[in-house]
Amino acid sequence: MQGRKKVVVIGGGPAGLMAAGQASEQGADVILLEKNHRPARKLRITGKGRCNLTNTAPLTEFITNYGKNGRFLRSAFSRFFSTELLEFFDKLGVKTESERGGRIFPVSNQAQDVVDSLVTWAKNNGVEIRTNAAVKRIKIGEENALSVIVSDPERNNPTYELNADAVILAVGGTSYPSTGSTGDGYRIAAELGHTIIPVRPALVPLRTAGETAQKLQGLSLKNIEVLVYIENQLADRAFGEMLFTHFGISGPIILTLSRSIVDALLENKRVSIGIDLKPALDQEKLDARLRRDLDEYGRRTFKHILAGLLPRKLIEVCIDQVSIPADKPGHQITSEERERLRCWLKDFRLEITEPMPISTALVTAGGIHLKEINPKTMESRLIPDVFFAGEILDLDGDTGGYNLQAAFSTGWVAGNAAAAKLLSPPSP
Ligand SMILES: Cc1cc2nc3c(=O)[nH]c(=O)nc-3n(C[C@H](O)[C@H](O)[C@H](O)COP(=O)(O)OP(=O)(O)OC[C@H]3O[C@@H](n4cnc5c(N)ncnc54)[C@H](O)[C@@H]3O)c2cc1C
Repeated sequence: MQGRKKVVVIGGGPAGLMAAGQASEQGADVILLEKNHRPARKLRITGKGRCNLTNTAPLTEFITNYGKNGRFLRSAFSRFFSTELLEFFDKLGVKTESERGGRIFPVSNQAQDVVDSLVTWAKNNGVEIRTNAAVKRIKIGEENALSVIVSDPERNNPTYELNADAVILAVGGTSYPSTGSTGDGYRIAAELGHTIIPVRPALVPLRTAGETAQKLQGLSLKNIEVLVYIENQLADRAFGEMLFTHFGISGPIILTLSRSIVDALLENKRVSIGIDLKPALDQEKLDARLRRDLDEYGRRTFKHILAGLLPRKLIEVCIDQVSIPADKPGHQITSEERERLRCWLKDFRLEITEPMPISTALVTAGGIHLKEINPKTMESRLIPDVFFAGEILDLDGDTGGYNLQAAFSTGWVAGNAAAAKLLSPPSP
């Protein structure tokens, strides 16, 4: 009698764990190979340790959060989307709730609960989770027989070969390599003949020119609008919160805008951002407000008046950039000077020099070319019985739970499709 069909899943992140548990639930024998001594290290630190699992956005809007490649996910999402993901975790005992921007977190605020429930579920389904198992390559033998070459980094890397009826490659991207996502998958897939779209940082902080950001280090601006200019043309904009750091800028809207900025920088284009510090006031209303302030507090110094308009840390930078003496009384400020101040408040410019290194990015953009993958099954169009899931794909989403939903949905599809293919009776 033939033994049970074996699915080997490579990578114990959200995509790999979901794929493994699903394939096992369908009746396949599943071994999950994870190179760290425990799975899901990255998942454990998501959402600042709180794990932003997914988002309440409806499907059409959800897909727009992955840029132009989002369409690829339509099929996976039509079968396993946020509702199904939340039901799945609910059954595992992880209750969730939504927050600002539709972000969904576990009620316990513990990413660890998500990891534990997922690992327990996979094990209870019969998945053998083999840790300290670093996959070096996928081998295609005679008559397309599949096997994987594994080494044990804890024991001087002795290698062994594991036969498989199907392989799911879910080793993630190359950001935060200390979590285990060191980009091995790109080499493994390229060796099989897959095209790799060049990887680059996504959701990444940015370096800025000059000393301005350093002077503002630690300052967080809320309810502001950031406009992105590529070669001085308005290219993107976002409203929300940003942060100044010792190297430049970060925070939610900067991470979101980094996708278009990184691509432009890679094409050697000039990129700057303009911060609208008063987005609730149009130019006219802002001018009226400035006139009122300068009138009402005419005897106070410019510096003093600014305290009512700006956070403390921004005052020095503003004085410097609008070239109005700090001790000039309000009633002596000329209309040209007031105009300069108004323009600056609506368009505080910073030039972007480069993204921070990919190791500090939340997500890796680029990866396995989507044209070479069947979106309904996640199976390779080049090598039968090899499937892909998660961040290794040429997909990256915005902040807000989009990357984990993509990992879970593609993992769900790959696990079910691999098992279904192996377990369906051969056609007569
Ligand atoms: C700090 C941080 C916070 C984040 N917060 C959020 C958030 O709140 N919400 C959200 O949606 N997204 C978030 N993300 C993004 C999200 O974590 C990833 O997109 C997601 O983890 C990708 O899942 P994955 O399973 O594809 O890959 P990974 O989670 O990277 O898992 C891949 C696994 O494969 C293993 N592996 C690698 N190479 C090999 C090999 N050769 N052999 C065997 N195993 C191997 C790795 O050790 C790892 O365990 C965050 C990312 C970071 C870095």
